[in-house]
Amino acid sequence: MPAASTGGVTCDLPLIDHHCHGVMPGDLDLQTFEALMSESYRPPPSGTSQFDKPLGLMIRSRCAPVLDLDPFTKGSDYVERRRELGAAEVNRRLLGACGLERLIIDTGHRSDSIAGVAEMAEISGRPAHEVVRIEAVAEEVARSGVDAARFPEAFSETLAARTHDAVGLKTIVAYRTTFAIDQSPPSAADVRSATDAWFRTIDATGTVRLETVDVVRSGLWTGAELARQHGIPLQIHVGFGDPDITMHACDPTHFTEFLRAMETWEVTCTLLHNYPFHREAAWLAEIFRNVYYDVGVVLNFTGPQAVTIMGEALEMGPFFKQLYSSDAFGLAELHYLGQVQFRRTLRHHLDRWITDDMLNLAEADRIVAMIATGNASRIYPLLSEHQATGSFGT
Ligand SMILES: [Zn+2]
Repeated sequence: MPAASTGGVTCDLPLIDHHCHGVMPGDLDLQTFEALMSESYRPPPSGTSQFDKPLGLMIRSRCAPVLDLDPFTKGSDYVERRRELGAAEVNRRLLGACGLERLIIDTGHRSDSIAGVAEMAEISGRPAHEVVRIEAVAEEVARSGVDAARFPEAFSETLAARTHDAVGLKTIVAYRTTFAIDQSPPSAADVRSATDAWFRTIDATGTVRLETVDVVRSGLWTGAELARQHGIPLQIHVGFGDPDITMHACDPTHFTEFLRAMETWEVTCTLLHNYPFHREAAWLAEIFRNVYYDVGVVLNFTGPQAVTIMGEALEMGPFFKQLYSSDAFGLAELHYLGQVQFRRTLRHHLDRWITDDMLNLAEADRIVAMIATGNASRIYPLLSEHQATGSFGT
């Protein structure tokens, strides 16, 4: 658990991690551990280490004590200790120490190699809910052997079935087409010819990867319709993340037309991560009724400098629009550090506002409560028992 505040703002209440992924259930060697410390798919130059960057410093300083090591233990010794304790114990310690109220898990990325929703509920001891990734379902349907003519209908049926018990949907349109696309719904004829083109690519390459613009657009609008029907948010990946991104075209202000359409539909859109466009995201949240944002993942990757990011995220965004997420994937260290960094940086700024006589403690508590749990509780259907995995009360 984070250290209790000493007289200033308290940020130690349980958090809702509204976007994260599962952990690797097995033991990890140094190379695999370091690969999971990076959003790049490329190894670092030989003779260098992923521990020599801001995130590495955070793992060595803040996670090492959770594994009974001294702060700033060498990276290789840290991973050795991890193996000595065993992955199950390490995952249990780190997730158990996060101080979470609940987790909302995106199951659409490398789901065969990481813990699923039920396992994450068990490891963390907290209720866990699923967010369904639209493009992953489209690829799953394409892999099922369905032909191109039947695909649009099969996809709609499968996505509807998968959404039934989910608390949200997620799109990675930013990765696959960027936001600089036609954002209107495609016609049925456009979807048919795009699906034909996509299936020809699958046949030619043997790889099922959805990047065909009109199929991606169709998935986006099919997902939006389901989000409207079920009254659940649509999570939208923005900015920093996996390397398959053309960053400059993933500024969320390119996606204004779609966000505006979703405002008319009263579909909540949560802009995820957002770096380096977190200021743009906060502005969109200020303008549009339905837009929310977080600075998940980037607080981990900016380590000691994360206070700058949180400060920028707090510049203009309404307090009733920011959310907490870790966006942790694979390493329980990332779930743990996400909340360390969130609590540390939010407290830093609110304490400063109090010093500047811009805030008092009671108002600070209200702001923390909104961002930590209040906003997520309001927009996700988290109170329905059937949607939480694990035998937990809510
Ligand atoms: Zn994610």
